Amino acid sequence: MEKYHAAQFDELIRAALQVRLQAYAPYSRYQVGAAILTERLKIYSGCNVEAADYDGTHAEESALAAMVAAGERAPRLLVVVGALEGALPSLDAPNFTGPCGKCRQKLMEFSSLCGYDLDILEGIREPGVYKLRQLSELLPASFGPANIGVDLKKYRG
Ligand SMILES: [Zn+2]
Repeated sequence: MEKYHAAQFDELIRAALQVRLQAYAPYSRYQVGAAILTERLKIYSGCNVEAADYDGTHAEESALAAMVAAGERAPRLLVVVGALEGALPSLDAPNFTGPCGKCRQKLMEFSSLCGYDLDILEGIREPGVYKLRQLSELLPASFGPANIGVDLKKYRG
């Protein structure tokens, strides 16, 4: 936990909570916000965007896309919050949500690219007490670029 400051956790959670309010989720009515802290200490956030074909974009995917569009490719810490429409998670009760399988794979892409494990903030026992998990715990023995012989060095950015 020493690699982050408590203020960074709060800032990241606030960003996820704020962007969650922009979610477009008329089908699931489950609004999700994701925020990523990068190696350069910038925050990128994204929300879920659904469509009638049920092939929507997840909040983590939106946040990753914002990060890549801004020229960064090194996520260090992720926060995901989710709740049904109408619910208002807060800094004290953010309702952390684990990334789904599809998003774990997308996040692992950038862990592969960077060469380090992504930290994910979760589990709050009381306000201000957080737990970090690593993406490799959530997606062990993952499929990645090495499986298909792709070297990502030149894509690191
Ligand atoms: Zn997902």
